[in-house]
Amino acid sequence: MSNTGIAIHGGAGTILKKNMTSEMEAAYKSALETALNAGWRILQAGGSALDAVDAAVTEMELNPLFNAGKGSVFTNEGIIEMDASIMHGANITAGAVAAVRNIKHPVKLARAVMEKSQFVMLSGKGAEEFAKLNGIETAPDEYFFTQRRYDQLQKAIESGAAFLDHTTDFSKKETSSPDEAGNKKFGTVGAVALDADGNLAAATSTGGMTNKKFGRIGDTAIIGAGTYAENQVAAVSCTGDGEFFIRQSVAYDLISLMKYKDFTLEEAANYTIFNNLNSIKGEGGLIAIDSDGNIEMPFNSEGMYRAAISNSLPMRIEIYKE
Ligand code: ASP
Repeated sequence: MSNTGIAIHGGAGTILKKNMTSEMEAAYKSALETALNAGWRILQAGGSALDAVDAAVTEMELNPLFNAGKGSVFTNEGIIEMDASIMHGANITAGAVAAVRNIKHPVKLARAVMEKSQFVMLSGKGAEEFAKLNGIETAPDEYFFTQRRYDQLQKAIESGAAFLDHTTDFSKKETSSPDEAGNKKFGTVGAVALDADGNLAAATSTGGMTNKKFGRIGDTAIIGAGTYAENQVAAVSCTGDGEFFIRQSVAYDLISLMKYKDFTLEEAANYTIFNNLNSIKGEGGLIAIDSDGNIEMPFNSEGMYRAAISNSLPMRIEIYKE
């Protein structure tokens, strides 16, 4: 049987064991396992990598633990604006949406942009109109309201800065906002997969930064920064300080090292995070799978919610540094 595999992430950041209750840890692990299995089942049944990443991300968009779909963070105006993208490595097609509201599954809208429009990226009202025309499921504002995210926004407003999902000290104006446990975390979700036909796909989805303003859009919506997939090379999905990931085109940076420098997946993934991203003091991580089914999940933050399985590797569900 040819190699197949899938990896997912639920965000990176200062996720410390000492700040985590065993209940929270178990909840995150079970959410990761459910999402991983949603994608893995499809691959095992001979389904496509594209359907697998779509299913895994869709599952995480339903879970308020993650900063995507239902659990998305609030903007400064107290609304939810989401970014998402998806890419199919077989034909280098991609779709992305930025700053969309009331879309239950932004990843599905990104996929519709890829499959049903001549464009790659749609934003705001236009993207919402496209969603309507294509029968994409919507949800009212109340669906996206979570007290936890609302409280985070109030703290972020007090501090006067925009934050990426969680931080412990607002006075430092870091780019993340804290959860109840004091974990600083970038809660974006993503998935990468390889199917039995050798096709690679990647998808990423997020609510972006708490207290973001002025229509801020992060790396998640940007093909080459937060998401990339190319058959015979790799599929990549990123999470972290979006501004840094955009400035370094992190996802495509990894692809380039493999394509033009003959790096292995492991070398390229590590170089991208520990050399390049570190050099501009960006924080976060990525998940990647190559055309042989190798999987890498490097990050330079304290932790990254992540899980992976392939037909040659047992299931891994991890949160902290090893
Ligand atoms: N990268 C995302 C952004 O900047 C945030 C995250 O990964 O949590 O919008």
